[in-house]
Amino acid sequence: MKKTLPLIVTLITLSLLGLIILQASWLKNLIEVRQAHVFNKIQTVTTQVATDLSYAAFAGPVIRLPRKSNKISAEFHLRLLKPPSIGDKFTPQEIYAKLRKAFDDVDLKKMKFEFAIANSDGDYEMQSLNYAKEFYDTTSNKRIHNYLVPETGTEIDQVVQAEQMIVIVPDFTKQVWRSLQWIIIGAIIFMLIIIAAFYVTLKSLFNQKKLSEIKSDFINNMTHEFKTPLATISLAVDAIKNEKVKNDSDRFQYFSNIIKEENRRMNKHVETILQAALMEKQELKLNINRIALHPLLNNVIEAYNLQLLEKNGFIETNLNAKNDVVEADEVHLTNLLSNLIDNAIKYSKDNLVIKISTSCNNKIFSIKIEDNGIGMNKESVKRIFEKFYRAHTGNIHNVKGFGLGMSYVKTVIDAHKGRIKVESTLGKGSTFWVELPRTYTSKK
Ligand code: ADP
Repeated sequence: MKKTLPLIVTLITLSLLGLIILQASWLKNLIEVRQAHVFNKIQTVTTQVATDLSYAAFAGPVIRLPRKSNKISAEFHLRLLKPPSIGDKFTPQEIYAKLRKAFDDVDLKKMKFEFAIANSDGDYEMQSLNYAKEFYDTTSNKRIHNYLVPETGTEIDQVVQAEQMIVIVPDFTKQVWRSLQWIIIGAIIFMLIIIAAFYVTLKSLFNQKKLSEIKSDFINNMTHEFKTPLATISLAVDAIKNEKVKNDSDRFQYFSNIIKEENRRMNKHVETILQAALMEKQELKLNINRIALHPLLNNVIEAYNLQLLEKNGFIETNLNAKNDVVEADEVHLTNLLSNLIDNAIKYSKDNLVIKISTSCNNKIFSIKIEDNGIGMNKESVKRIFEKFYRAHTGNIHNVKGFGLGMSYVKTVIDAHKGRIKVESTLGKGSTFWVELPRTYTSKK
């Protein structure tokens, strides 16, 4: 697992990068090919329309001789020789319609265009509405010139220069992009789906890795937690077997107390593990009663007197809440408070002082538990309620535990529809606020 995970991450990342690069270059090629293809089509259709127009304009009799006059000026000659212009024969609407139809016929239905007809001197005979506006944009527009050459009359060719039909396709690249938009959007969506799948796979792999680490941590902790009392019990039993101890009632009492105490400790561990296993399977079942919290708190505090004495610490209480009655489950609430006080003692430094205070309003009863212990960093504060979570001990502390206490606390508070808040500074201490609704409601 240690080596395969980075390998999997590298392989998937590489293949994903490869896919993205291939996809991008494929799209780039597609757009270039499409641009060339569309431009070709436009050239073909405009040439076709230009030929049609020329044919229609110049197909009729070209020279009309005056009937009466026998003096024909050179200018008149020229006028006579000049074929009718496209502008004479067609309206702009007709030319637009021809072009539109030609565009539509080759599947360029959405392609916008502007056009103009210019005479041989370069003056415009007609132009579409936005032609002048689009004319000067030479970067994003494509411009196509077609000469409107008469089909017959070589002499005439020599006299006049041909007219021109100019077609402008505004925002050519954008229009081509637009025609490909569904392909591009599809490619992006599928790419995002692949990235999302990659993310989910990696996340679950990391979760699995975390779980297996948690599992081995848990087994290590559990082994330690059970081995120590077992070793102590074994030593105490050996001592009791000794004749000298058997005859000395004080020493006998001392060793049997040790056995009793270690037995109690192991029982507590088994309880914690069983509780966690139960919480996994089903929601916490509450046995709700009206409870006076101040006496309950005092009882819990009293149970820690011995441990506090050993640590040279003390608990300062300020139980100021006017009304201490809440509807709650007594057993779970006792465990909850024990867990919080237990941690405050477990994760303490020298000169341990724990301050416990209470307050209330009409709806909520609050308990504040403040310690001057080792404290936690931000990451630990965020994750403290996760099952099996334990702050990285390193050289900070060497206290063993299962990382189940705080997740149990959170479950109990959630079951009571209460709230818990933690603030902590590494090296300075932690404060926990527990808020319980005074009246229990089972609804969410
Ligand atoms: P455990 O104490 O068995 O490790 P908990 O769920 O009770 O598990 O606590 C989770 C972690 O939160 C502890 O390992 C510890 O790092 C941190 N923690 C809890 N309470 C305190 C506290 N009062 N001061 C400092 N750290 C604490």
